[in-house]
Amino acid sequence: MQVKADLHVHTIYSRDSLITAKDLVFYAKKRGLTAVAITDHNTVEGALKLAKETDLLIIPGVEVSSRNGHIIALNVQEPMPKGLSAEETVDRIHSAGGLAVACHPFALFKGSLGKHVSDTFDAVETINASAAPFKRSVRKAEEIAAELKLPRVAGTDAHYAPAIGYAYTLVDAQLDVDAVMKAIVAGRCQPFGASVPLRLKLEMYYHYFKEKKVGSKSN
Ligand SMILES: [Zn+2]
Ligand SMILES: [Zn+2]
Repeated sequence: MQVKADLHVHTIYSRDSLITAKDLVFYAKKRGLTAVAITDHNTVEGALKLAKETDLLIIPGVEVSSRNGHIIALNVQEPMPKGLSAEETVDRIHSAGGLAVACHPFALFKGSLGKHVSDTFDAVETINASAAPFKRSVRKAEEIAAELKLPRVAGTDAHYAPAIGYAYTLVDAQLDVDAVMKAIVAGRCQPFGASVPLRLKLEMYYHYFKEKKVGSKSN
């Protein structure tokens, strides 16, 4: 069976996202996704809550701000400490039973890991639909994944619900969090997707203005 998963979505529990639980489920289903990893900044509260409320498979995660750049922890039940080195952060994620994903490793303006990606990571997010410049970010992420022989995944980094599903990962697994995690580690997964269209990015900024969220950090 194949699971179609957006492995990088932020909800309103990340202070910089506009995505409510209801919108997340609506757009994920509209795009034919069967799983979504909720990777809010430094909290798993929204993920754990929604996992109980929907038939969509929710993978609880968190986007950790390490000292060397952002790292996604997939399948963790608690937030990871901020400000540690990339290496220490990966260790903490593994101790918590999670997978460490080098998200948007070469995107500009995102707090990216760059050269701090190592083979201790479980996967590289080679396609991040919000990364800029998009093509260069994908190419450089593909290069590092190949060099380190790491599995490749994709996600949107959506902060605005209509962006959900523009990038996704097809995982060869049953629709179950542990099965999906095992398949990713084994490399039974493939990234797909494109950049979020400019129109949607502009719409998102419009809504930020309306909701007076201007000035909050967008990742
Ligand atoms: Zn993010
Ligand atoms: Zn990030």
